[in-house]
Amino acid sequence: MNIQDNVRSTWTKELIKPAEMPVKAEVVIIGGGIVGVSTAYFLAKQGIDVCLCEKGYVSGEQSGRNWGWVRVQGRDEREIPMMLKSLDIWRNLSNELGEDVGYREDGCLYTAYTEKELSNYQGWVDLAKDYNIKTDFISGSELKSAAGMASRNWVGGIITKSDGRAEPQKASLAIARGAQRNGATILTNCAVRGLETSSGKVSAVVTEYGRINTSIVLCAAGAWSSLFCGSLGIKVPQLRVRGTVARTNVVDSPIKGNIFDKNLGIRKRNDGGYTVAHGSVLDHSITPSTFRYAPKYLRALWKEFNALRISIGMDFFDELKVPKQWKLDEISPFESMRVLNPSPNKSVVAEIEASLGLIFPEFKDAKIIETWAGMVETTPDVVPIICESDEVPGFFISTGFSGHGFGIGPAAGQAIARMIENKGTTDLAPFRLKRFFDGSPIRPNSTI
Ligand SMILES: Cc1cc2nc3c(=O)[nH]c(=O)nc-3n(C[C@H](O)[C@H](O)[C@H](O)COP(=O)(O)OP(=O)(O)OC[C@H]3O[C@@H](n4cnc5c(N)ncnc54)[C@H](O)[C@@H]3O)c2cc1C
Repeated sequence: MNIQDNVRSTWTKELIKPAEMPVKAEVVIIGGGIVGVSTAYFLAKQGIDVCLCEKGYVSGEQSGRNWGWVRVQGRDEREIPMMLKSLDIWRNLSNELGEDVGYREDGCLYTAYTEKELSNYQGWVDLAKDYNIKTDFISGSELKSAAGMASRNWVGGIITKSDGRAEPQKASLAIARGAQRNGATILTNCAVRGLETSSGKVSAVVTEYGRINTSIVLCAAGAWSSLFCGSLGIKVPQLRVRGTVARTNVVDSPIKGNIFDKNLGIRKRNDGGYTVAHGSVLDHSITPSTFRYAPKYLRALWKEFNALRISIGMDFFDELKVPKQWKLDEISPFESMRVLNPSPNKSVVAEIEASLGLIFPEFKDAKIIETWAGMVETTPDVVPIICESDEVPGFFISTGFSGHGFGIGPAAGQAIARMIENKGTTDLAPFRLKRFFDGSPIRPNSTI
């Protein structure tokens, strides 16, 4: 493999038709991102007969394109217990799977240019204390030495040393292989078109290669969940924003973990390079979904106002053309687009390149050797949806991880497996879909 195609390799291999389709499974999972594969892994470990269907490649979408930050720092309180559990899982995951997922506990650092920005972190530091998370304020000078040869006059920042990072192009694939070793069937290039029901309950999924009888289905379809659920009459508010990412060649820098600067997010990679992105730019191309769900997103839009670059173009018409219903014996929208592969925003790449050497002088000769983009799918309060649907018993939904699902993915998978097994050991009520429809206030407490 060409080293320059490291990220691209997760979604550009030849697509191979699945060899053997099971006729039945206890549980069928739709989607081979980190949430789907982690759920398959924990179910298979319990001896449950699970089959995962992925329309393209395992980790071909968000789970293989993200920054690789594994952090509790800055999360919405509802996600904290699950994220702490996830950190525990990450710490031992490479050992448990017998292959390296790239996890390193090198901390997560947020910077502030002004006292006002610094004081905005106080809320998190107080909340962290309630959960025994050690997040410390650090001074501008301490921060500079923690951040390589940083040239910026940061007044200070916060650091959570127990946060980490992992390699997105390795982790989900390793978990998927772990699930297979425990007996799970993983079918790639196999889109699920829809469900069949009997007396109102799930009785089968219909894939492009035929039917799999089952009474339990999990939709872990990432950016496609709203479309899939909509075809069943289940409304899932979900919007997409595009994040542009790049990686550098090997750079000699003491930066070990993740650093967030409002102009640049940077993470050390295990290949010696760095994954870099603009700290606060996301593109949102207006589509009919934007109008459909806008009232629920008003607070999120307000919170992200400075980060969002909103435009309108062909995406609007492309979404209009996507059918909302289809026959199960005909090609579905999921086969029409095997991989959601947005183009990186060139002007954002140029901004990243410019900031890199300015903020961290040791990067002034660094080369950007690969760029890509990922479509982040987000809910109105930027917290995921994890629940069984009220409309179709046996149909579970797990989606909307809103820009921070990689880190929490393993514990989400474990919690979903328990929910499916009906071992209610994790309180998933805060993640119910209904919160967007039952008059509960919609409050985004963190950012995408
Ligand atoms: C640019 C970017 C940066 C990010 N940075 C971070 C970060 O640093 N830390 C962090 O924690 N999170 C980050 N995230 C978010 C994180 O990547 C996601 O929240 C997480 O990967 C979501 O995982 P998932 O399994 O729910 O979805 P996905 O990884 O999107 O997987 C869903 C899968 O379902 C498949 N699918 C859809 N419909 C069907 C169907 N009908 N049949 C079969 N298969 C189907 C898709 O092909 C896809 O592979 C980032 C995301 C992006 C895009």
